[in-house]
Amino acid sequence: MNYSDLATLWNSVCRKLRSELGDPVVNSWILPLSIDKFDANTLYLNAPSMFLRDWVVNNYADKIVSCCQTENQSVKVINVSVSSANAVPEKIIAFSRFEQIKTDEVTDLSIPLDPKLTFENFVVGKPNELAYAAALRVAESDKVAYNPLFLYGAVGLGKTHLMHSIAWTIKSRLPKQRNIAYMSAEKFMYHFIKSVRYKDTMAFKEQFRSVDVLMIDDIQFICGKESTQEEFFHTFNALVDNNRQVIVSADKSPSDLNGMEERLKSRLGWGLVADIHPTTYELRLGILQSKAAACSVKIPDKVLEFIAHKITSNIRELEGALNRIIANAVFVGREITVENAREVLSDLLRTSERKVSIEEIQKKVAAHYSIKLNDMFSPRRVRQVAVPRQIAMYLAKKLTTLSLPEIGKNFGGRDHTTVLHAVKKIEELVNEDTNISEDIKLLTTILNR
Ligand code: ADP
Ligand code: MG
Repeated sequence: MNYSDLATLWNSVCRKLRSELGDPVVNSWILPLSIDKFDANTLYLNAPSMFLRDWVVNNYADKIVSCCQTENQSVKVINVSVSSANAVPEKIIAFSRFEQIKTDEVTDLSIPLDPKLTFENFVVGKPNELAYAAALRVAESDKVAYNPLFLYGAVGLGKTHLMHSIAWTIKSRLPKQRNIAYMSAEKFMYHFIKSVRYKDTMAFKEQFRSVDVLMIDDIQFICGKESTQEEFFHTFNALVDNNRQVIVSADKSPSDLNGMEERLKSRLGWGLVADIHPTTYELRLGILQSKAAACSVKIPDKVLEFIAHKITSNIRELEGALNRIIANAVFVGREITVENAREVLSDLLRTSERKVSIEEIQKKVAAHYSIKLNDMFSPRRVRQVAVPRQIAMYLAKKLTTLSLPEIGKNFGGRDHTTVLHAVKKIEELVNEDTNISEDIKLLTTILNR
């Protein structure tokens, strides 16, 4: 058979396969193949990757042969080899395949990186120095230093900023070799569900397993989503086994991720776990100074100090406050003074002042039950102090953003499991014991005032 006969044969075979196997399968697995030659009853095909070759041979070889035979009886077997000559980089194969399957959205695995989120623009202070050092180390080391790198902290403290910074640094160090995929856990789930819907999970697996660095932001999103967790677990293991870097962020430590499978929780904690603590005054001021320096209007130090003092929740709000002051100066022509800042930020100031602290909870609960404040930290277990202490832990969980270990620390260095136990127990009591549920309602009102 000459090449043009072969091409005609292959085209009709593809058409037949399409009607028997469906578009997604043909687009994913058959179109990437190219015909090579026909010799001694054997049709020789080339596949662009080993993975694709194996998959085709194991799943579609018989179908391909039978379709060939309806065109040309003499085809008895197929032989698929991996050809480096027409090999397309894995990434491109995966993308073009996705393009053919779904036309309604972006095909790149990684979402675009924000050029402002770099290590240079990240202000380092006590609360984030560990996370920063770990991120820098992962970004700059040639070997996989820690796997996974797990960054966690409350919202708005710089997790996403650090992840983008790592991606930028790796991209600039190794522009060609590294295939970096950065995305939110939500996006990961979306890709996964889509692949299930299009019956194309193998393409999904191949696509994700071909990355060098996988970064999943806000992994807590898949808590309680079992099949996505399962898929992530396998992707994760495959990458780690192949010495690829995995970086994950969350709003809690691995052990505090409720609704996450135990084996995944434990796996996530195997590498380096670095937390970002709530900001300190120094860090907030440092960040404001660096942002103010980059801006065209002059902002008096007093105003920066005022904002750093008042907006304590997180860095996103801090930036928001500064931007609002700048906008008022630039667009409304309002002079930048502490008085004006107070007015411009009045709503933010109110919410940040309303925040409940753990000390307040302990004080109010102790006073309510007429026990000593010290009993909140003491090891005493008599019921008269143990129950109020558990109520205080429960309220700390409900009313603050602190994690279980952090709450435990504040109650005389107790373990997070003790806190968890307390929270569960009080949750039960609230349903069974009207006295306790009334107490909790009252305390919550007092604390939220
Ligand atoms: P998270 O992902 O933890 O919710 P982000 O990384 O989105 O928080 O940070 C919120 C905002 O604060 C972003 O605009 C980010 O650039 C800024 N930011 C956070 N940490 C720092 C820092 N240390 N220095 C400068 N800007 C920061
Ligand atoms: Mg984030």
